[in-house]
Amino acid sequence: PFIISSSSPSSPLTSVSRYISTLVLAEHEGGLVKQSSLSAVAAAGTISEGNSISMLLAGSGPSLQQAASHAASCHPSISQVLVADTDKLAHPLAEPWAKLVHLVQQQGSYSHIIAASSSFGKNILPRAAALLDVSPVTDVIEISGPQLFIRPIYAGNALCTVRYMGAEPCMMTIRSTSFPVPLNSSDSKSNGAPISQVDLSTFSEDGIGKSRYLKHTSQDTERPDLGNARVVVTGGRGLKSAENFKLIEKLAEKLGAAVGATRAAVDAGFVPNELQVGQTGKIVAPELYVAFGVSGAIQHLAGMRDSKVIVAVNKDVDAPIFQVSDYGLVADLFEVIPQLLEKLSEK
Ligand code: FAD
Repeated sequence: PFIISSSSPSSPLTSVSRYISTLVLAEHEGGLVKQSSLSAVAAAGTISEGNSISMLLAGSGPSLQQAASHAASCHPSISQVLVADTDKLAHPLAEPWAKLVHLVQQQGSYSHIIAASSSFGKNILPRAAALLDVSPVTDVIEISGPQLFIRPIYAGNALCTVRYMGAEPCMMTIRSTSFPVPLNSSDSKSNGAPISQVDLSTFSEDGIGKSRYLKHTSQDTERPDLGNARVVVTGGRGLKSAENFKLIEKLAEKLGAAVGATRAAVDAGFVPNELQVGQTGKIVAPELYVAFGVSGAIQHLAGMRDSKVIVAVNKDVDAPIFQVSDYGLVADLFEVIPQLLEKLSEK
């Protein structure tokens, strides 16, 4: 599928240019493409100039059709939207999705397949890569060329440059915090990208896997999504109990912030697992990250060190969190949070 074209005198870098076409695996909710999938489109746009980007959406019913319309006009780089409309893909289970990606790759011969490094992407992309017999590159934070990627290693303490030398397609997950999308990125083009239906005549459920959809529960929808929030307020083991953790929730509410937690706080049962920030949780990079009772273990820092402004409150002056903080307060959080809540109520 690579097309070798003649050298361009204006290109100082290479005498060979390849035809790049990228398939973006997109997640949608409530009729809208998720922000993390738009970051995957932004990343695809940096693979090469003139990259032809197709976005793949799957599901069934009206919300899929709404998401397809949104996809067609949500980013100027998208050249087509592919829709797989079937009850078999009504829920984003990894096994049928991986089969779908395999099928769409057979029909489209893409040079690259990309997804955000979310639960959705991390679940589907490696399985699809196994079906296509290629090795995926994960957690890419910078794309230096069609085959050259930068990804963090050792919990973000070192950066590794990876040259992909495998067969096509080159498959990767990207960290959405490294490829931000402006909040109003909608294309002003009136008609948008064309929407096509994926030919599912050869898509069967046979041998699709053992997982079954049970139910979908969403947390408090009024609170911003942890992955995209401008402000995150995080609590650690220093909160001591689920009851005390409500202080963090109250503060987050006042600030219009998302709530985060350390693994220690999650393991202690203060909050559910989906709030965990860090190496084995969510990666966030908000404008403001406020950490209460968090020691600053490297696995936690791996998930938040790219935040623009970091504020830490800890009663231990030697806590490592202070090494990455822009503002640090050595104090008891049980005194500080009530004072903050009081001051914020006056506003
Ligand atoms: P602690 O380290 O116990 O720190 C609590 C802090 O609260 C202390 O600094 C203390 O001084 C302070 N404190 C106590 N009381 C008060 C008070 N009243 N006022 C102010 N400060 C107070 N961790 C993550 O967070 N995310 C991950 O994704 C993650 N992944 C991991 C992956 C692996 C493979 C491993 C091995 C570990 C991982 N961890 C992760 C765990 C990590 O190593 C730490 O154990 C964890 O981050 C510690 O959480 P903490 O800061 O809440 O708790």
